[in-house]
Amino acid sequence: MQKLFRFNYVFLLLLLMFFSIHIPIKATLAPVPQSDEPTVYLTFDDGPTPKITDQILDVLKSQNVKATFFVVGKEIKGREAILKRIYDEGHSIGLHTYSHNFKIIYKDPESFIMEMEKTNTTINEVLGTNLEIKAIRFPGGSAGRLNKNFYHKLCEKGYLIFDWNVDLQDGIKGNLSPECFLQNSKKCMDKSTRRIILAHCNSNNQNTCEALDDIISYYKNEGYTFKAIDHTTEPYYYKFKK
Ligand SMILES: [Zn+2]
Repeated sequence: MQKLFRFNYVFLLLLLMFFSIHIPIKATLAPVPQSDEPTVYLTFDDGPTPKITDQILDVLKSQNVKATFFVVGKEIKGREAILKRIYDEGHSIGLHTYSHNFKIIYKDPESFIMEMEKTNTTINEVLGTNLEIKAIRFPGGSAGRLNKNFYHKLCEKGYLIFDWNVDLQDGIKGNLSPECFLQNSKKCMDKSTRRIILAHCNSNNQNTCEALDDIISYYKNEGYTFKAIDHTTEPYYYKFKK
């Protein structure tokens, strides 16, 4: 019995020695955390749209970067091929309501959620997928709309909210010059090196397409990595009364 105890004790000691030697070595070989790496998320709202979305996809392809498209459900009909192209080329798809009609979507949280679910279903029907898209964007942004109750209902559904800290201002002023959009793309609302750029692909966003190549080159030169938003991306939303 005592012999067995001693054997176990020695075995345990050996085991401890083994781990005490090996664990630190393994730890030093662990990859360096990437969280502080300057990252840029290019996001395009309101599509898919003929011509404009395709032009944006062409630029993204030539620059070899991935972006996120917050699509509007009602825009998909007749433009299924564009949605498929977004998906096939490895970009991510987020939800931006079905109707984009503020009176309907902001009536109550239930209406908002229903609009997101309807868009998700439409996307799956078109792509032949079974995606559970969680990334959402509030039309007009969450500021002044999101509150504690609304937030909890979205969390229950597992939604991840994405506002922005860089605004091209091409949503309301689509005809600003490409140079102006390039300058706007450099202005961040905070000091973060995690940039979420709001851009649009409406039919009047030709100048966004013209500016896009330079915007991407600027961020590449600044050492930023381009990423598409997915279910692992940390949400970003404006402060609201809790
Ligand atoms: Zn929108």
